[in-house]
Amino acid sequence: MSKILIVAEHQGGKLNAATAKCVHCASQISGAEIHIAVFASDPAAVAADAARLAGVSKVITVANPQHANPMAACIAPQLAELAQGYSHVFGPSTTFGKDLMPRVAALLDAPQASDIMAVESATRFRRPIYAGNAIITVEVTPGTQLVATVRTASFDAAQTSTSAAAIEGASPSATLPQHTRFVSVSAARSDRPDLQTAKKVVSGGRALASADNFKILYQLADRMGAAVGASRAAVDAGYAPNDMQVGQTGKIIAPELYMAFGISGAIQHLTGIKDARTIVAINKDPEAPIFEVADYGLVGDLFHVVPELEKLIASNG
Ligand SMILES: Cc1cc2nc3c(=O)[nH]c(=O)nc-3n(C[C@H](O)[C@H](O)[C@H](O)COP(=O)(O)OP(=O)(O)OC[C@H]3O[C@@H](n4cnc5c(N)ncnc54)[C@H](O)[C@@H]3O)c2cc1C
Repeated sequence: MSKILIVAEHQGGKLNAATAKCVHCASQISGAEIHIAVFASDPAAVAADAARLAGVSKVITVANPQHANPMAACIAPQLAELAQGYSHVFGPSTTFGKDLMPRVAALLDAPQASDIMAVESATRFRRPIYAGNAIITVEVTPGTQLVATVRTASFDAAQTSTSAAAIEGASPSATLPQHTRFVSVSAARSDRPDLQTAKKVVSGGRALASADNFKILYQLADRMGAAVGASRAAVDAGYAPNDMQVGQTGKIIAPELYMAFGISGAIQHLTGIKDARTIVAINKDPEAPIFEVADYGLVGDLFHVVPELEKLIASNG
């Protein structure tokens, strides 16, 4: 039987939705026993949230002041120790998981499957390659311990359950490295919805032509209650900050509505929005590749379309 350990991602004492998506992925392995490991200075609140995720039978907490600001270098040796006896070790394919899981795989001398987007069995998984241009099926030899990152955009979050799983404290003996220590974090703050979890995203490309022009997208997004994203060309040109980049080397998102303004639709951008439910493209070039993937396309100048849209939304309350 598969026994799966999932590392919890959390922030500010709250469990990140990425963990619930990993649980959903793990639950697709038939008969799997699913446990969650929480590393924090005070894991109580996060562990309580994790224990209520449907399908989870145990939550293991590691309380350590050094985990107040989670660092992959410190979590990895402890997670590798806890992972003994598990057939699979899962983490989200987020910045946190991408930093942590390869270290765990190296410490366990185990293979890693990155970016799992579908589960075929306990040993066969599908994942994107070539910037999402092709899907590969990977298989691990039965009996081999597997470390994996889960493409969170490909899975819904596990439901919460009325009953809670057992919560157990653990004290791994692994020595924490001294070469890495937390200094500070500089995180962008925004009152808008978080780009990675927003239901609606309004995104702009090179066509915006300046940071100042991007303001029209911020206004539209605020009217719609949407997050704002950008293409790499827009980020590289300094029109939008780096944390807004959507795509292969930016954020992989799965909103219900994605509106692309002046974005051509390069494959590296499309890989970030593959799982968006409805894609609306506004581009003045009718041959732009984005129209091949868009559910709705509008050929037009974004500098006319955006104010018109805003007016329409305002007049409809
Ligand atoms: C290894 C690698 C990784 C990459 N990772 C990413 C990534 O994560 N994300 C990403 O986005 N890109 C990524 N790229 C870059 C990608 O290949 C494209 O260069 C980039 O997505 C193009 O951005 P864009 O669509 O804004 O610009 P362009 O391709 O220049 O397109 C601008 C579009 O705006 C339209 N337009 C111009 N004026 C107007 C107007 N007034 N109204 C309406 N439409 C207008 C044009 O017709 C055109 O289609 C990566 C590239 C590489 C090589």
